[in-house]
Amino acid sequence: MMNNRDRIEELRRDQTLPREEMQTLLTTLTQEDASFLYANAREVREAYYGKEVYLRGLIEFTNYCRNDCLYCGIRCSNRNAQRYRLSEDEIFDCCDKGYALGFRTFVLQGGEDLFFTDERICALVRGIKDRHPDCAVTLSIGERPRESYRAFFDAGADRYLLRHETINPDHYRLLHPAALTIENRRRCLSDLREIGFQVGCGMMVGSPFQTTDYLLDDLYFMKEFRPHMIGIGPFIPHADTPFRDKAPGTLEDTLHLLAVIRLMHPRVLLPATTALGTIHPQGREMGIQAGANVVMPNLSPSGVRDKYMLYDGKICTGDEAAECRRCMELRMEKIGYHVTVSRGDSRVETAAG
Ligand code: SAH
Repeated sequence: MMNNRDRIEELRRDQTLPREEMQTLLTTLTQEDASFLYANAREVREAYYGKEVYLRGLIEFTNYCRNDCLYCGIRCSNRNAQRYRLSEDEIFDCCDKGYALGFRTFVLQGGEDLFFTDERICALVRGIKDRHPDCAVTLSIGERPRESYRAFFDAGADRYLLRHETINPDHYRLLHPAALTIENRRRCLSDLREIGFQVGCGMMVGSPFQTTDYLLDDLYFMKEFRPHMIGIGPFIPHADTPFRDKAPGTLEDTLHLLAVIRLMHPRVLLPATTALGTIHPQGREMGIQAGANVVMPNLSPSGVRDKYMLYDGKICTGDEAAECRRCMELRMEKIGYHVTVSRGDSRVETAAG
């Protein structure tokens, strides 16, 4: 009979576990097991990335969205959301400020806002790359046709974040309007990878109706897909959505999954997300100590930050970019890590890892 220590050691050695063992591990972890799991995840992350924490400057450039995802505060049917779009100059300004603060990756994230046509997105990407050729540009703007993704890549975009949210079709339907399907999400992810992006997928932890079985499906899907980046954070309800009364995901579950993901994907770029920092004041630090290696401080102008509300209670909505940058540096120093001024590419030689 294996115990959880054996399971963790096998997971580290093989970078996977048989499904039944993984299920047992996830459902029977004691606090002691969890400490052992985190220590292993830290050792693996440090073998590839040392004590470095990569910075991404997040620019939430529009909260208009044509979709109606049931969990999300900027879903189109939320009449209480105050909608905004940043102008091209405002976005370039965020990048210039971010550059001076040491950011070398800019993440343009937004709702699915068709005001931003392919041409406009390409102009943004080219503009940022012209100004800051040594920086990476990441897009996180949802589902588009393959030709659009190709145009973004040709314009110079380096990375694309598109969480799969849940790989189980039944669960996917419970979280999204009928117009969105897991089949199209998969199509997007494989197009992005074929085109040459560094691709990120991921899911919320503790989303409504999620089961351990669904989470296992997500873990094995990601193992097969081999993304360069994996974004996970706790689900947090938003008062103006149908999921307002659903329970949030927990700190513990999120940390366990971060560590398991690190052991399954030793070189993956794995952020300690804002949502994790929202459910616990030291959530991001604990995420780093469970194997995460990326943080994404907010670079959006302070005037719009409280409008990009995906969930209730989001942190740092009153801060300036410089404050967030400094605060993050201090937080990382306190736990023995340091943020680096670099593009922070995945330590993956080939297209996958
Ligand atoms: N429109 C883009 C960006 C979405 S926001 C896209 O669809 O890819 C980025 C991520 O925030 C989403 O993928 C989702 O996983 C997460 N998110 C949305 N609502 C949330 C909530 N209520 N709690 C926690 N995370 C949430």
